Amino acid sequence: MDTALKEDLIQYVRDLYAAEDEVLQFIREDSAAEGLPQIHINPEDGRLMQILLSTIGAQRVVEIGTLAGYSGVWIARTLPEEGRLITLEKDPEHADFARRSFERAGVADRVEIRLGSALDTLRKLVPEGPFDAVFIDANKDHYPRYLEWSIANIRPGGLIMAHNAFWSGRIIDPTQQDASQVLAIRFFNHQLADHPRLLGMIIPMGDGLAVALRLP
Ligand code: SAH
Ligand code: MG
Repeated sequence: MDTALKEDLIQYVRDLYAAEDEVLQFIREDSAAEGLPQIHINPEDGRLMQILLSTIGAQRVVEIGTLAGYSGVWIARTLPEEGRLITLEKDPEHADFARRSFERAGVADRVEIRLGSALDTLRKLVPEGPFDAVFIDANKDHYPRYLEWSIANIRPGGLIMAHNAFWSGRIIDPTQQDASQVLAIRFFNHQLADHPRLLGMIIPMGDGLAVALRLP
């Protein structure tokens, strides 16, 4: 399929299933104006995550990598009233922006931002588990450790999702043998494919959305 047609089809899907309301639009536009990195998930990633989370009846979700709260709003909006999203961020400016996003979206009552380096925060989070789902989208070199934590701290039947499984194609680029982030994502993808307690897949959408069900 030629690239232009594929772009048009993605736009078709986006318009039909993943239209942004003004809150999501505002998060993207205003975070760009404030100079935050524009590396949010795509709307269709958000929609798909909503379906997957609803399918497993997710109530307690951990997100690693908050940024402006864009993906967090998609996730929080699919949780039941008593549901909770705990989202981890190391950058206080990102966390501040995200706090305003969650308020604007009317989901602040079910979202908690934990500031700090994710590996530290995850360690402290263990007694609050097990969780229903984890969405991994922070620094790539720690993806394997985030996965290990997720397998240990979500319930059987729970869900692991991760953004950037393709890393803009670098994961299959033979000239990228030493880049630590590439190696980490490759290792992560292998684990997801081979781990005896996971049923995994990369959905080839956007920059690759990895998903895996944690088997009993
Ligand atoms: N999930 C967001 C995008 C996250 S971008 C969305 O789609 O809307 C990655 C975020 O992870 C950035 O805000 C970055 O500051 C944060 N981050 C990077 N390394 C981290 C670490 N070690 N611990 C916690 N957060 C980290
Ligand atoms: Mg990402």
